[in-house]
Amino acid sequence: MKYVAVVCPRCGMASAARAGAKSHVCPFCGARIDLEKAAVIASGSAQEVRKAVARYNSSRTR
Ligand SMILES: [Zn+2]
Repeated sequence: MKYVAVVCPRCGMASAARAGAKSHVCPFCGARIDLEKAAVIASGSAQEVRKAVARYNSSRTR
């Protein structure tokens, strides 16, 4: 199974979504993210994507 890390256009947090899915619901704010338009910051295995998400979110948390 392949995953992508996408950035939510509403709250700016990254989360992991299944690659090939059309949309994804942001776990932070509940926004529906259109995966064809979303900013993808990483793709690969679940582990790689989880790492990219954690790195992205920790760099912007204050
Ligand atoms: Zn969000």
